[in-house]
Amino acid sequence: MIKHDVVVIGGGLAGMRAAVEAAEAGADVAIVSKMHPVRSHSGAAQGGINAALGNCDEDSPEAHAFDTVKGSDYLADQDAASAMCEDAPHQIIWLEHRGCIFSRLPDGRIAQRHFGGAGTPRTCYSADVTGLVILHTLWEQLERFGVKVYEEYFCTALCIEDGIGTGVVAYNMRNGQLELITAKATIFATGGAGRMYTKTTNAYASTADGMGIAFKAGIPLMDMEFMQFHPTTLKENGVLMTEGARGEGAYLLNSLGERFMFKYAPNKGELASRDVVSRAEWTEILEGRGVDGCVLLDMRHLGREKILERLPQIRELALDATGKDAFDEPIPILPGAHYTMGGIEANAWGATRVPGVYAAGECACISVHGANRLGGNSLLETIVFGARSAKHAIEYIKGVGTVRPSERTLKSEQERIASLMSRTSGTRAPVLRKRMNETMSANTFIFRDEAALAKAVDDLVVIRREFDESAYVMDKSSTFNTDLVGTFETDYLIDAALCLARGALERRESRGAQARTDYPERDDTNWLKHTLAWREPGKAPRLDYSRPVTITKFQPEVRTY
Ligand SMILES: Cc1cc2nc3c(=O)[nH]c(=O)nc-3n(C[C@H](O)[C@H](O)[C@H](O)COP(=O)(O)OP(=O)(O)OC[C@H]3O[C@@H](n4cnc5c(N)ncnc54)[C@H](O)[C@@H]3O)c2cc1C
Repeated sequence: MIKHDVVVIGGGLAGMRAAVEAAEAGADVAIVSKMHPVRSHSGAAQGGINAALGNCDEDSPEAHAFDTVKGSDYLADQDAASAMCEDAPHQIIWLEHRGCIFSRLPDGRIAQRHFGGAGTPRTCYSADVTGLVILHTLWEQLERFGVKVYEEYFCTALCIEDGIGTGVVAYNMRNGQLELITAKATIFATGGAGRMYTKTTNAYASTADGMGIAFKAGIPLMDMEFMQFHPTTLKENGVLMTEGARGEGAYLLNSLGERFMFKYAPNKGELASRDVVSRAEWTEILEGRGVDGCVLLDMRHLGREKILERLPQIRELALDATGKDAFDEPIPILPGAHYTMGGIEANAWGATRVPGVYAAGECACISVHGANRLGGNSLLETIVFGARSAKHAIEYIKGVGTVRPSERTLKSEQERIASLMSRTSGTRAPVLRKRMNETMSANTFIFRDEAALAKAVDDLVVIRREFDESAYVMDKSSTFNTDLVGTFETDYLIDAALCLARGALERRESRGAQARTDYPERDDTNWLKHTLAWREPGKAPRLDYSRPVTITKFQPEVRTY
């Protein structure tokens, strides 16, 4: 059996930041990751990370918090959003002091670019490879502190004994062994759930694992109906074209060559928040002003020099996928599934309602993004709440004696695998995943209504039952059994998808990323509240609305851009 004081599940930005914080404080901390940490999806982040440094224009953490809360359509918890925005400048300097290379202004200060929904240029960046640069900085710190990394270990379950978290069970992908990893504190940092949809900007590994694991262990998922559809993704493969392109001045055009965004957002145009821009694009396409089912991202006027300096990666990605060179031609783009605003319910310290269990980064719902996240706030969230959850965990473990290893969870996971492996017929997970992807993409996309959402819930309940009754794994080997791992991932995705569809069906209003054609208005009287989804075995989740939204400084107002 493996034992540590703190175990972090996930080696992306949130997980590594948490581990470095714990290691700096002298704690015995380890990371469990299903892949090498620097291959985490965080490494794909392009555009940047927000902090009110005020290097390009006047700015303050309060202005940042206001933009965040307005962007969230007033569903964010304002104590958490303020804590994040106040800590942001400090965290950027912290990264800088550890060698993170940010792009610069001519006078040497950290450069900042415009991003959607922000009142001022606030997004620090490293060209268009910001996530990768920060990820490598943190990896160096892990090496510096000698943090133990259980790489290619797939966490399958959370252990809870006597009401407190006592670690996890993980499957060693190299030899097929299940390991009990006992810890006084467990921090989930397992990333998002974009793979619920057929097309997404997310990595193949963004499969809701932490969310599904927590949900199965009895921790609710919060606000799952709010899935962000990013306005600029490639039709061919779902790959992201960073919002930084529009931040640097790129236009969105329809088939008539119009910069249509000013019809929808007279003040901000292309730099309105993402939910607004995605709806506008989809409306243009639905009303017949699209180009082959897309609209166009035009960067030509930025010029070669600026594209090569600030946006080199996306030019290459677009060229590879579409054959179009951003120097000379506009790039066809459309909205695609990008970011999971909901996640494991946690407070402003990343603490869940089970003592000793934390969540940080995209798998968590803290909630700082509410109904719509601003670009550049997610990288920030990983860093701020990675650090905060570790800080809280370190204090918490001081009061914990020895924890009891959860042999019963190990045993039930052994039985779960045995059951999947012993079946010789049934339905394979990829088949169920495809059906889930199809119903999610058809019925829970940008515009939603009662009939479509009810269909999604019905479909997903059937898929859930079929999985539970008949999912089987064809590959019976114990070395890098990707069939088995993919089956676990599908299991967690189905849970996340059910919470999303059920929450969206019940929320009879439009707010942020949830746009109901049958309830087009925001309804603060009835719906200014979080959704909590609890597991009901074999059924759609049970919802409750007992968690109010924390409002401190900013009263809800009509949201225009
Ligand atoms: C293409 C793209 C571009 C983006 N650009 C930006 C941007 O410019 N600015 C911004 O603010 N945000 C951006 N985002 C969002 C942001 O990058 C992510 O929300 C953030 O990086 C998530 O970090 P994370 O640490 O929570 O998870 P991830 O980086 O996804 O890491 C998850 C980790 O968990 C591990 N893991 C998962 N499941 C298991 C399991 N069962 N067992 C063991 N380990 C597991 C994985 O191995 C991985 O190490 C972008 C997202 C995408 C997809």
